[in-house]
Amino acid sequence: MDDCLFCKIVAGKIPCDLVGESESFLAFNDIDPQAPTHILVIPKEHVRSLADSESSEMLGGLMSFTRDIASEHGLVEGGYRTVINTNGDGGQMVFHIHVHVLGGRQMKWPPG
Ligand code: 5GP
Ligand code: ZN
Repeated sequence: MDDCLFCKIVAGKIPCDLVGESESFLAFNDIDPQAPTHILVIPKEHVRSLADSESSEMLGGLMSFTRDIASEHGLVEGGYRTVINTNGDGGQMVFHIHVHVLGGRQMKWPPG
């Protein structure tokens, strides 16, 4: 999608700090990290949000890839948080589905 920030990252038109890639997914560091580790995991195909996703295969692959990225970054023992913000009240700013992976500090509950 032409005017989507994360599609531009997938296309290599905007640089990112890549930390993982598979045939269908990318993982890169968030530009404004909220924890010592803050990685974004996205599908290469454009899907606007979790609410707009139609493929269970894509969603399963996204979560499996996220699990592997968290493990590769040493987050399993200490623990980590995964977040998918959806639409306005969810705080979604970039409308290309992404999983936040936050780790390296104690998370609080409830989230803001
Ligand atoms: P959302 O609020 O949509 O769940 O999260 C969007 C995330 O994308 C934010 O955490 C924000 O810091 C991150 N972000 C926005 N623009 C860029 C960018 O150009 N590069 C990277 N790596 N992250 C970005
Ligand atoms: Zn997109």
